[in-house]
Amino acid sequence: MYIRLLDWTPEALERWHISKAAVWEVVSHVVGEKAGRSLVVLIYLTGGTGCSGEYLPGWRTPEDVHRGTVKGLSPRFLLIRIALGTDNTYPYATHDDYGWSWRFATVLDHLALVVSHENYHRCQPSFARRRANNEQHANRDALKHVLDLGFNVEGAPHGG
Ligand SMILES: [Zn+2]
Repeated sequence: MYIRLLDWTPEALERWHISKAAVWEVVSHVVGEKAGRSLVVLIYLTGGTGCSGEYLPGWRTPEDVHRGTVKGLSPRFLLIRIALGTDNTYPYATHDDYGWSWRFATVLDHLALVVSHENYHRCQPSFARRRANNEQHANRDALKHVLDLGFNVEGAPHGG
């Protein structure tokens, strides 16, 4: 797996009391060893608050990401892309687009959940597209996975 942090600033790392190495460690831990070299995880720091992820099924090329400016990528790879808001303060509470409420103790707990959610989509076989696109399953699976790994995340559907 190739993990790249884009547009991260020393100020953000300092404010969240983390290092880039800690982010790499969390992403590696959540995704696991089996991902292999074909998976690329890009984590952008953006303005504002929140954290969103996307996994687009199918192979990508270096030209598909960051206007082709990210060096060292394979000729083709699977891509998880995450945008993390630089104004997030922790603990952080939010609702997602699927009717769930969430609470994350730290930015690393937040990233763990979002990475786990997108990795769920990646891991579903392509013939099971309906399952792969099921956001309720993705949230449930991701929450169980990060809790099993010991992350400090609270999540529940329908605000309950
Ligand atoms: Zn999803």
